[in-house]
Amino acid sequence: DTIGANLDRAVAAWPDREALVDVPSGRRWTYARFGADVEQLAAALLGAGVAKGDRVGIWAVNCPEWVLVQYATARIGAIMVNINPAYRTHEVEYVLGQAGVSLLFASLGHKSSDYRAMVEQVRGKCPGLREVVYIGDPSWEALLRRGTPGTRPEDLSCDDPINIQYTSGTTGFPKGATLSHHNILNNGYFVGETLSYTEQDRICIPVPYYHCFGMVMGNLAATSHGACMVIPAPSFDAEATLEAVQQERCTSLYGVPTMFIAELNLPGFASYDLSSLRTGIMAGSPCPVEVMKRVVAEMHMAEVSICYGMTETSPVSLQTRRDDDLEHRTATVGRVLPHIEVKVVDPATGVTRPRGAAGELCTRGYSVMLGYWNEPAKTAEAVDPGRWMHTGDLAVMREDGYVEIVGRIKDMIIRGGENIYPREIEEFLHTHPKIADVQVVGVPHERYGEEVLACVIARDAARPPTLEEVRAFCEGRLAHYKIPSRLEILDSFPMTVSGKVRKIELRQKHAADG
Ligand code: ATP
Ligand code: MG
Repeated sequence: DTIGANLDRAVAAWPDREALVDVPSGRRWTYARFGADVEQLAAALLGAGVAKGDRVGIWAVNCPEWVLVQYATARIGAIMVNINPAYRTHEVEYVLGQAGVSLLFASLGHKSSDYRAMVEQVRGKCPGLREVVYIGDPSWEALLRRGTPGTRPEDLSCDDPINIQYTSGTTGFPKGATLSHHNILNNGYFVGETLSYTEQDRICIPVPYYHCFGMVMGNLAATSHGACMVIPAPSFDAEATLEAVQQERCTSLYGVPTMFIAELNLPGFASYDLSSLRTGIMAGSPCPVEVMKRVVAEMHMAEVSICYGMTETSPVSLQTRRDDDLEHRTATVGRVLPHIEVKVVDPATGVTRPRGAAGELCTRGYSVMLGYWNEPAKTAEAVDPGRWMHTGDLAVMREDGYVEIVGRIKDMIIRGGENIYPREIEEFLHTHPKIADVQVVGVPHERYGEEVLACVIARDAARPPTLEEVRAFCEGRLAHYKIPSRLEILDSFPMTVSGKVRKIELRQKHAADG
C-alpha cells in the first residue's frame, strides 16, 4: 500500500473515531475530517505546482499541521524533508540546499525560536526554494485555496521515496535517510501490531515529529490501526505530557528514557491519574532497567515495550512483546520484528558471532532505507552489497533470540587495554539512591589512555553524591577498572531534540578539566 491508500482505508473503516487531538489548542479531528483535510492540502500542493518527487520541507514543532503535511505529501508522492526544529540559519540553509527543497512549511515561532525571521534570512540564499508557507498564518489558508478538489496524482508506487529523515546527530552531523512508503508504513504497522493497537487506543506523542519516533512509531502506527494521535505540547514538557494523558485518557505513552525520568521525578507526579495507560514505548537510547521497572509499576504501563531502531531502518527492527516476562522486557530490546533479519558480527571481519558474544548489530529487510540522500559514498559505508545495514551498535544475541544492546561502538571506553561499556556502569549507578540520571563517558588520561567519568544528575540537587560515595558504592561490585575515577554533578545533559544525550559533548567539555 501507499500511505494515501492506507489512510483511505482507515477513513472508510473508522470515519467517526477520533484521529488527532491537539491538546494545547483544543482542536480535534475525526478520521473523516482528517482524511478530508489531508485531501484538501494534497490538492493545494498540486495546485501550487508540487509534483511527485519534489521535495517539500517541514521545519516545525509538533502541531496538527505537521501531521497533515506528512499525509498530504505522501498522498501526492512528494518527498517530505523533516527539518530539526533546533536548527538555526546555518543548518537550515544547508538542509534546504542539500535536499533541494522547493516548498517549505515552517512554524512561525516557538519559545525563543523565531522561525519566520530565520527563514526570511536564508531565503535569498536558497535559489531552489520557491515558496514558504507558515503554519498558523494567512499563507496557510492562501495555499489551501489553490487546490482543485478531487485532483489526484497518478502512478504512485509504494517503493517511491517519500521522505528524507535526518538522524539525530548524536555522534556527529545528521545524515538524511531516504525512505519509501513501503519502508515506513510497514514499520509503523508492525510496531502498532506488536502493541496490539486498535481503534480504541489513544497515543500520547511527546516525542518530536521531525524524528521517526513521532511520525512513524506514532502517527503511522496510529493511522494504520485506527488509533488516535494525541499531541500534548509543541515540544517536550513533562507536566503537559502527564496532563494530556490524564485529560485525554491515553492508553499509550511514548518517550526516550530521559523523558520518562523527567516525568517520574516531577514533584506532582503522584497526583496525576494515569490509570488509562496500558502500554507505550521507551526507545532511542539505552533504557535503564530501573527506569523501565518504575514505568511498569508507577505509570500503569504494564505492557510497555522497548524498541530498538535507527532512522536508517524506518526505524524499528527489534521490539519487546506484551507477553514477554519482566526480565526480557526490561533488560533486552526484544526480538526481531516480522520480515526483518538481524545478525551480530565481528566488526573487524564481518563474520557472524556466536550467540552470547558481543559484536556489531546488522539488520536487513524491507525497512532498510533506499540510501542517504545524494550521498552514495556514505550509503555504501552503512549498507553493504548484501543490503545489510551496519548499525554501529554493539549487541549480544541471547540463546533465545532476544537481543541486548551493549552500546555504541563509538562510546566504548578503552582504559589501559580494557574495553569498558558505559551502559553497564550506568545501569549499576541508576540503583544509587542519590542518582536520578547518569551518563558515563571516557575522557583522555595520560597513563591509561582513557579514564571513566560519571556525569550525574542528583535526585536532590542540594545533596548530590560525592566521588568517594560513588566509588564506595561500586567497590567490590564492579571491577576496579570500571569504577569511575571522576565525577561531575550536572543539572542537565546536552541533548539532541530527539532526546538523546550527546556524549560527544560531555567528553569534549570535561576532557581537559580533570
Ligand atoms: P547519528 O546517527 O546522527 O549520530 P543517532 O544514531 O542517535 O544519531 P537515530 O537514528 O535517531 O540517530 O538513533 C539510532 C540510534 O539510537 C541507534 O543506532 C542506537 O544507538 C540508539 N538506540 C535506539 N534505540 C535504542 C534502544 N532501545 N537501546 C539502546 N540504544 C538505542
Ligand atoms: Mg546513527
